[in-house]
Amino acid sequence: MLHVDLGAIVANWRDLVARHGAPAAGVVKADGYGLGAGAVARALQAAGCTTFFVAHLTEGLVLRAALGAGPQGAREAPPDIVVLNGFRPGADEDAGLVPVLNHLGDVAAHAAAGSRAVLHLDTGMSRLGLDAREQAVLAQDRGRLDGLRLLHVMTHLACADEPEHPLNEAQRARFAEAASRIAPGVKRSFANSSGIFLGEGFRSDLARPGCALYGINPTPGAANPMRQVARVEAEILQVREIAAGDTVGYGASWQATEPRRIATVAAGYADGYLRALSGRSLALLRGRAVPLIGRVSMDLMTFDVTDVPEAAPGERLLLIGGEGNTPDDIAARCGTIGYEILTSLGARYHRVHEGA
Ligand SMILES: *Cc1c(COP(=O)(O)O)cnc(C)c1O
Repeated sequence: MLHVDLGAIVANWRDLVARHGAPAAGVVKADGYGLGAGAVARALQAAGCTTFFVAHLTEGLVLRAALGAGPQGAREAPPDIVVLNGFRPGADEDAGLVPVLNHLGDVAAHAAAGSRAVLHLDTGMSRLGLDAREQAVLAQDRGRLDGLRLLHVMTHLACADEPEHPLNEAQRARFAEAASRIAPGVKRSFANSSGIFLGEGFRSDLARPGCALYGINPTPGAANPMRQVARVEAEILQVREIAAGDTVGYGASWQATEPRRIATVAAGYADGYLRALSGRSLALLRGRAVPLIGRVSMDLMTFDVTDVPEAAPGERLLLIGGEGNTPDDIAARCGTIGYEILTSLGARYHRVHEGA
């Protein structure tokens, strides 16, 4: 069972808006970082968020269906749903989605169609967005933008979670210069979650926080200023006594050196609990840490509950969440980032959205 605290997401969004000192969108790509884009966006919309970012066109279409044209009975404009990967004119089937224009071909196609759009300038990611050569072409020939209704001009930071990295300042300067040459007077969208914490020079008309909304630490190395959002619980199916010398799980990778009590839990890597965590993670049972032993299998995993004598079938343990067991903590155990822990949560969980 995946519990999502929508109240915490809204509180995190408000906190980020206050720190930014200017508006912020909600980034809800990858199904709201695995937590349910529709429910997250509805909660943020009710709190006053008017722009959402998704990655794929299909995500945008699903989100538009979930949000409808706007809050019930409201007379404001429907929220903008911006598709980071862009799409061809008309491909959004009248859902009113906003494409991000990532190269000159996108600019030409959407200018001809008279689209509302966001223009993406690459300033250091070398991933999507107009590169320096295309920016120079556009700066020489701004008529290429005629017909477009640009909501924002944006760029994306590569190293915002490393405040001392020199690329941050380089991207700030490149963006300021290119945006004023290419799209003077157009609103700007700059910082992601971590970028909001880089200070004044990274403020824009619209920040694009994602991870921090969901409780991931946007300031790695310092205390996490965000509220925790996600808790994943799984049920104990069996508790068994094993003897010294018995092995547990595939590959017999774990062997008892003394009698132990083992709880078999109904979740595995098919539920997004990464197999790379085998033998190097823990869960919380009745507030106590219990070590994961043996390999994570597809639908099951095993914990040593010898030190929690009350452990019994039917009880739930906290796989993700709680003190020392946040998505960031779990990521650190297997060499990844909290983002991957959250976005791996599969469709199998029953999601419970609480406290909007
Ligand atoms: C994912 C993404 C964001 C959000 O980044 P976080 O680090 O999760 O805050 C913002 N902008 C773009 C272009 C993105 O791809």
